[in-house]
Amino acid sequence: MTPTEPRQPGKEDSLLCPSYIAKPGAQLFGLVNAEGRISYLRQPITIDTTFVEAARAGRPAEERFRFAGKCIQNGCHQWSDARQACALVDRLMEQREKTVEAALPECPIRSRCRWFRQRGKTACAQCDEVIRHTESTFLDRHADGSERLQ
Ligand code: SF4
Repeated sequence: MTPTEPRQPGKEDSLLCPSYIAKPGAQLFGLVNAEGRISYLRQPITIDTTFVEAARAGRPAEERFRFAGKCIQNGCHQWSDARQACALVDRLMEQREKTVEAALPECPIRSRCRWFRQRGKTACAQCDEVIRHTESTFLDRHADGSERLQ
């Protein structure tokens, strides 16, 4: 599906990927709550080596938290050169059909979010169900058409 929403304002070279890994310098901006959804922080927190090492002691940090980091565009395998856009958010949105609510969840990275810039409120409406580890599983399964994650 081709995105139909107009691109949101945002300076391309300062956009953040909202599905980043836990590594020093990344921005922690959400926690996975008891319902398995994201609770967004009021302000992002820059994580350091101590946090990353502690987080690695349990389940993968990406299953428990959401991180953001600099979108490196064509340095990332999810980038589409043809569309000059992140292909990941489009693929994820195609599989999720939550309607856009008037009130968006409070999100501390919205002004710099790559996904919001590309897909606007549609991305935000689905975003609290996206967990990086789950997303990887979903995409792996969907790639061969054998299984879809609900
Ligand atoms: S898609 Fe929306 S809710 Fe998700 S990280 Fe980006 S701005 Fe925040």
